[in-house]
Amino acid sequence: LVEGSDTSLRSVEPFDRLRANGLKNYRPDFPGIGDWHYLDTAATAQKPRQVIDAIARAYGEDYATVHRGVYARSANMTLAYEAARRKVAAFLGAASDSEIVFVRGATEGINLVAQSWGGANLKSGDRILLSCLEHHSNIVPWQLLAERVGAQIDVVPLTADGRIDLHAMSAMISPSHKIVALAHVSNVLGSVLDARRAADIAHSVGAKLLLDGCQAVPRITVDVQALDCDFYVMSAHKLYGPTGIGALWARQAILDAMPPWQGGGAMIDKVTFEKTTYAPAPNRFEAGTPHIVGVVGLAAAIDYVQAIGLDAIHAHETALVAQARAALQGLNSVRLFGPEDSAGILSFEVEGVHPHDVGTILDEEGVAIRAGHHCAQPLMGHLGVEATARASFGLYNDESDVAALVRGIERVRKIFG
Ligand code: PMP
Repeated sequence: LVEGSDTSLRSVEPFDRLRANGLKNYRPDFPGIGDWHYLDTAATAQKPRQVIDAIARAYGEDYATVHRGVYARSANMTLAYEAARRKVAAFLGAASDSEIVFVRGATEGINLVAQSWGGANLKSGDRILLSCLEHHSNIVPWQLLAERVGAQIDVVPLTADGRIDLHAMSAMISPSHKIVALAHVSNVLGSVLDARRAADIAHSVGAKLLLDGCQAVPRITVDVQALDCDFYVMSAHKLYGPTGIGALWARQAILDAMPPWQGGGAMIDKVTFEKTTYAPAPNRFEAGTPHIVGVVGLAAAIDYVQAIGLDAIHAHETALVAQARAALQGLNSVRLFGPEDSAGILSFEVEGVHPHDVGTILDEEGVAIRAGHHCAQPLMGHLGVEATARASFGLYNDESDVAALVRGIERVRKIFG
């Protein structure tokens, strides 16, 4: 793609051809983007005007509490809140909206499962299976649980190209494993898990499968029933929605049997000092006044991406990653991590240059990437690095962002000789 040191990406697919994947230019929808080369969508996505407007309305003329009000505005907000639950359920392919619990994000969803389901179902001697590429939020909650109940954690290795090695997983899993928790898409390598196969392997020993869908929901169509997992977590802010809100999906029978994890208003049936009874799921897991506006914003974000179509978004991001991969491969001294078919995410290293310096120089060029351990320190250890630079794409990116990235890296190489 890049001839010699010419980084103009002359031979890169023209904009129109890239857009022929079904995506028109959505950049104008995003007031936060302008001509910024934002390549940090895996950390958090920029928000379209449609989501920002929905949030403004929800805090403005529509604002009221949910579930408790006897007046029309509150009743309407309750309808919007529960309609959002139905929307998330349909978006994830859930069998029922009562399988959706609103949480602060993927982190809280995993902590909920570990503390509530894990606390009730794991005992001393039981085992938990994670993978080497997990985000800290899919490691630490399980460590807290393991310490509490006396369970052990085992770690599935990766294939040479950076996928969770399901062959190894199938060889190491045993009936002592009660839960397997894996990233559906890696936030560092972009590798996509064959989740259905992982579910079959987990279920073959009677273990449950939790999928961390943070990086998957903005990039690929998710159908929890087809994946046959048991728990699925996501964060709205990676899906072009607001921060502070996300969803946990769990199979109804599992959710119904789980004890509450936080007590307070809205999660009860009847409270007396002698005995308190709890509301059925999902309300049992939503103690306190919820993030009402966040939920409305999440629904708006789902409407936004569904109007475009996840298949089109996926094809678009895949084309951009392929373009970036090919361009960076042409530069000697750049090392790429992760499989060829990574979804929207590309980690790399410029030989002899700390990723933070790469990130700082790129920032001067108007290119925003992430540099660091990406909350995946065990994976950094596996890769033999302290940190990586990571470019991650969203539906608003195009080949001008790839060109700017490559130009910036050329400058890094010049500065560092
Ligand atoms: N898992 C993965 C794979 C992630 O990328 C992230 C966010 N970086 C999380 C979990 C945690 O998400 P949140 O901080 O929104 O709870």
